[in-house]
Amino acid sequence: MEKREQLYEGKAKKVFATDDPTLVLVSYKDDATAFNGLKKGTIEGKGAINNRVTNYLMQLLEKNGVPTHFVQELSARETLVKKVAIVPLEVIVRNVAAGSLAKRLGLAEGTVLSRTVLEYCYKDDALGDPMVNDDHIAAMGWATEAEMATIRAYALTVNRVLGETLRDLNIELIDFKLEFGRLADGTIVLADEISPDTCRFWDTVTREKLDKDRFRRDLGGVEDAYHEIMKRLMGE
Ligand code: 5GP
Repeated sequence: MEKREQLYEGKAKKVFATDDPTLVLVSYKDDATAFNGLKKGTIEGKGAINNRVTNYLMQLLEKNGVPTHFVQELSARETLVKKVAIVPLEVIVRNVAAGSLAKRLGLAEGTVLSRTVLEYCYKDDALGDPMVNDDHIAAMGWATEAEMATIRAYALTVNRVLGETLRDLNIELIDFKLEFGRLADGTIVLADEISPDTCRFWDTVTREKLDKDRFRRDLGGVEDAYHEIMKRLMGE
């Protein structure tokens, strides 16, 4: 496999073409942004941790019936993935009120939700990723109703598998964001990343935050928190 030209640079990752038109190479950066790019910084070692954590969790999810874009980890921060057309939605799954939900509904952070809540946001930085519903998604043609049924089912499976795995490690899965893509034949697969950048993880015992909120809210100990998640999941 040969690494070719850069196709795209996002806030946390770069994507490169390869000599195989069906595969792309993802390279994770240490750059961190928050509040739609308003806050910028670096989290030392983040790229390598998010690469390894994401790949570990993607493989776990594959085993549990969720197809993903993962192909092969190439190096500390580089992974080969299937090329997809991203469905332009952030799929947010919530078990406990935090972040924007706590703010929007006036709930205390940490309020347990009586059932899992799914939200969709249209991926558009210029618009600030506005929340949308199934009707907007169908009307705008971002995904079909059949695709949304698949995405919803996969998102709930991810919540169950991840929640169970993390509970055993004394980590509570508060909420997380997923992105899905379409392969050339239209198959929906889980794409992007699953990491402390995209999830809220709280220590079950101490309630300490072990995720990107430490960066967003200037809580300190950001690198240590990312490392702790990798250590509990993968033993290193
Ligand atoms: P909230 O809507 O409360 O800000 O975020 C809910 C969950 O989705 C959190 O776990 C958060 O990390 C994740 N999330 C939502 N939007 C984004 C985003 O644009 N980037 C990243 N990295 N995570 C997001």
